[in-house]
Amino acid sequence: MKTPVTGSFELIKNLNTACILNAIREKEPISRADIARKTGLTPATVSNITAELIDLGLIGETERGESNGGRKPVMLMIRPHVCYCGAVHISSNFIEVAVTDINATVVWSENRPLQRGIRPDEAIRLVIELLYKAQAFVPVGKKMVGIGICVHGLVQIEEGVMLFAPNLGWENVRIGDLIQTEFNLPVYVENDVRAMALAESWCGLARNAVDFVYLYIGTGIGGSIMFNNELYKGYGGFAGEFGHSTIEPDGPLCTCGNRGCLQAYASENTVFKNYCARKGITEEDLEYADVISLAKNGDEAALDEILKSVRYIGIEVGNIINAFSPSLIILNGNIVKLGNVVMIALDNEINAHVLKYTHSRTRIVFSRLSDRAPIRGAASCVIRDLFEYPRRFLQ
Ligand SMILES: [Zn+2]
Repeated sequence: MKTPVTGSFELIKNLNTACILNAIREKEPISRADIARKTGLTPATVSNITAELIDLGLIGETERGESNGGRKPVMLMIRPHVCYCGAVHISSNFIEVAVTDINATVVWSENRPLQRGIRPDEAIRLVIELLYKAQAFVPVGKKMVGIGICVHGLVQIEEGVMLFAPNLGWENVRIGDLIQTEFNLPVYVENDVRAMALAESWCGLARNAVDFVYLYIGTGIGGSIMFNNELYKGYGGFAGEFGHSTIEPDGPLCTCGNRGCLQAYASENTVFKNYCARKGITEEDLEYADVISLAKNGDEAALDEILKSVRYIGIEVGNIINAFSPSLIILNGNIVKLGNVVMIALDNEINAHVLKYTHSRTRIVFSRLSDRAPIRGAASCVIRDLFEYPRRFLQ
């Protein structure tokens, strides 16, 4: 739902602005001279644009930095509370709405469960109600400048449409238009796993990574590819569906209708069902989160079922390394809460499947954003645009 930039002068100015803002974000506090060195822009351009950004309130001058002999330079920093974002996460069983600053730090949030079979119009009414509540938590004198929404399933981001949300059974929900009409603010709709990857690049472990791959292990398994600082969507828009890589052609049936997908072997649902069957426990008496806690507390069957799933995840991570050779792969989901025991099993499996020499070049890490990744990702959709076109948001 972006407005195209018209005219080459405006385009260049916006590109230079984004360049300067990113330099500040990465290295703050930073002097004007260092911004010029880092970006390759002339000192005059840096001086003009930073003056304008100070007027807009997006950056501020701070204490003087270290001198190289002459006068100490004035340092510049982002002002994270210049304005605020609305953030919405629609998962398959709850809605979270939050207010964040422009570091995507949550200042207020509220969760509501989604009843099974809820209609899209009912859910959107709930989102609107919570967003009105959220606006009251924006500090006096400040504005909410945009709303980011991340949802599970297939999304048409340009039109802000939820094309298909399998777990909710929704199709063609024009959520972007509906929220935009209500609040008259820019609205961004993104797939939840892509939003999580964006959060990593904005405020997580991928802050300085230009290319990385993100893998989320939940009730489904999804992925996202960041290429050249942009989310790579592929020609059809569905890139990153690592959960549906075939592990075994004659394997168990997957929710997508195919057989033997990674998701059919390693999703939370699979681990949960296998554990319950192994222990003879009725599924209603337990939740997946309990299996993680049991594994942490020494239940061998729980840990064994989880590590079996990690084996399949490791095969896929190995495939990803062989295919993309990324500098960084970030994993998120409940299994990362088990830390080292999962990392060691994962590493062993990856080593067994990657080409010699390639694995050592790829860093594998567990996300530290944890359950906050989707909501911070939703906010990041707004903030990314704010940093590209600050005048549009703050003038
Ligand atoms: Zn599948």
